[in-house]
Amino acid sequence: MGIIENRFRPNIVITTLDKVFNWSRKNSLWPFSFGLACCAIEMMATAASRYDLARFGMEVFRPSPRQADLMIIAGTVTKKMAPRVRLLYEQMAEKKYVIAMGACTISGGPFQDAYSVVRRVDEVVPVDVYIPGCPPRPEALIEGLLELRRKIEKETLARTD
Ligand code: SF4
Repeated sequence: MGIIENRFRPNIVITTLDKVFNWSRKNSLWPFSFGLACCAIEMMATAASRYDLARFGMEVFRPSPRQADLMIIAGTVTKKMAPRVRLLYEQMAEKKYVIAMGACTISGGPFQDAYSVVRRVDEVVPVDVYIPGCPPRPEALIEGLLELRRKIEKETLARTD
């Protein structure tokens, strides 16, 4: 994709490629298994059989960032952990996406006044979808994943300037 991305204005070839790439991307997101605190329990529940993430092609959580294109940041991000979050994000395959799951990840949650907690994870990595809650239930995470799929459907390889 690097060869044609951002080089051409929208045309029949680009729009056709967009359809193919976006369809394959949204149906084969590979999440990185990466839990930081109690929200991760709900993320694990989402991946279990009751909620059947296999419907969306993302049931296998990858143990390495190099095999993943979706980071679900689930839980409190401490200042000590933030550089590792950034490093793992940079090691993920392009194109990559980030979901911020839970009040702690989005805004520090109940720990926002703690000296050790990052108040906004989007100052560490770019975030595509925010899922509020303490903790968000698996249904909320699934809605966030569906929102990400809707965003992917609108992506384009064409120049947008
Ligand atoms: S948002 Fe609530 S459930 Fe999630 S990590 Fe923070 S305290 Fe735990």
